[in-house]
Amino acid sequence: MVIAIDGPAGAGKSTVARALAERLGATYLDSGAMYRSVALLTVRAGADPDDPAAVVPLAEGLDIGMAGRTITIGAEDVSAAIRTPEVTAAASRVSVHRGVREAMVQRQRELLSDGAWVAEGRDIGTVVYPEAPLKVFLTASPEERARRRAAESGEEAEAVLAAQRERDARDIEREHGALAPAADSVEVDTTGLGIDEVVEAIAEIASARGLS
Ligand code: C5P
Repeated sequence: MVIAIDGPAGAGKSTVARALAERLGATYLDSGAMYRSVALLTVRAGADPDDPAAVVPLAEGLDIGMAGRTITIGAEDVSAAIRTPEVTAAASRVSVHRGVREAMVQRQRELLSDGAWVAEGRDIGTVVYPEAPLKVFLTASPEERARRRAAESGEEAEAVLAAQRERDARDIEREHGALAPAADSVEVDTTGLGIDEVVEAIAEIASARGLS
């Protein structure tokens, strides 16, 4: 069983998906951490994130481990290293390449084929797992999303908003796995809502569909 939670950066996907997974006794999948890990390897290799010839082999060979909040590449804990602004910007660039997406989507499908999952990303409901019985598209106003990110990271809200605009545009405009709501998704605008209210609303829909 898979519940898909897609939407733009800062819409509250991670917090909501984690809380929902805990409530339903499901496992949480952070697909963004996978693209971030490819970006980290790219930055460390001094490679160009826009060059698929450099980036696709790194994605295909990625040895990632995901256990709760801990993300590892090989034996190294990279949980903090994949969240820096530099890696965040590179993640939205490496994720436009078809070969990168194919490698990540294949692994995500393998994971999701067994067990109960709440999976978070941009393309879970449209590409990775269109058969998910509940697809949620979380949104919030750009200003609110930037405010949340800035509060989390301690960066300037203006700088976050500018970087977020670029990331949103790349996610929406890319050719493969573009950010878009699935036709049969439930859209939830989290502007002005607390996490608990959002989780409650989604849990009710899940329950109504016999998923809890
Ligand atoms: O969700 P998060 O902000 O951690 O994702 C980092 C980047 O990875 C996003 O900006 C997006 O470009 C990419 N991504 C993606 N597809 C996903 C998840 C994340 O392209 N399913």
